Amino acid sequence: MPLHPDILSTVGDTPLIRLARASEETGCTILGKAEFLNPGLSVKDRAALFMVREAEARGAIRPGGTIVEGTAGNTGIGLALVAAVRGYRTVIVIPETQSAEKKETLRLAGARLVEVPAVPFANPNNYVHAARRLAGRLAESEPGGAFFADQFDNVANRQAHVETTGPEILAATEGRVDGFICAAGTGGTLAGTAQALRAAKPDVRIGLADPEGSALYAHYTTGTLKAEGSSITEGIGQGRITGNLAGFTPDHAYRIPDAEALAIVFRLMREEGLSLGGSSGINVAGAIRLARELGPGHTIVTILCDGAARYASKLFNPAFLAERGLPVPDWLGPATDPLP
Ligand code: PMP
Repeated sequence: MPLHPDILSTVGDTPLIRLARASEETGCTILGKAEFLNPGLSVKDRAALFMVREAEARGAIRPGGTIVEGTAGNTGIGLALVAAVRGYRTVIVIPETQSAEKKETLRLAGARLVEVPAVPFANPNNYVHAARRLAGRLAESEPGGAFFADQFDNVANRQAHVETTGPEILAATEGRVDGFICAAGTGGTLAGTAQALRAAKPDVRIGLADPEGSALYAHYTTGTLKAEGSSITEGIGQGRITGNLAGFTPDHAYRIPDAEALAIVFRLMREEGLSLGGSSGINVAGAIRLARELGPGHTIVTILCDGAARYASKLFNPAFLAERGLPVPDWLGPATDPLP
């Protein structure tokens, strides 16, 4: 086992895990890529590392500089880790609706947090625009300057998955992958992994698993960006074609309701020991739908983006679920029978 020179060399090379129930129910082999095992505990460590490396390579970030980003949380956590190792500071602009656990993790990782109201992208106060403006101001005032990571439109994000996630899936399956599906936030994971898989296997079927409240399902099925409904999942769903989604088209698209995704999250916890966040539930639900469409005998890969601990106060809080009319699994509530 080689020694790691620093924490950043442990990003990626995550295991591919067979999801037993989903595989048995569909007659397919459904595999989840365990991205929650990255050092920042999410898939976004890959994008964070590639965006910083690319900025360093073109001289967009200077020693002692400040990295600024607008993020639902996970990209910020990844950036804060990279920044610590490479000697930068991190300022994160986050919509106040994101989970308290992610905000706390950002603070523990050394980021400075700016919380803003959650407003649509069309509003100039949206967190992405607020982050871009803040980076412009800090570029003038900070001694080391500032770099706006810009994960939605910075294609170094997608490139991380072209160069790492996709090849890792091909290697782990020895090329026997028939389908890949996941949700899109920036779209980096979906479009980048799809690009690598399609280059190696032109017949591979690529699917989008879209939560309610996202405009992508309508875009890819009817040609119109149109959002309907809403979702309690975080980090996924998109109202526009980001730079990372540009030029990408899925072969299949599914809109997944929260109740379907959550039932899968709870089942994977109780039956397979996988403690996952909501976007992983959307992804596995999508993999099951793709498996049903392709038929038995196929191998389908999806992404297990992050872990349950990041959402304890929401997805795993009976009061939060009940308020939203979502089913509460009996094991989440207080034990009613006295223990022997
Ligand atoms: N799941 C979670 C929990 C996330 O934080 C993100 C990133 N926003 C995604 C999925 C989506 O990844 P991507 O940005 O590559 O589309």
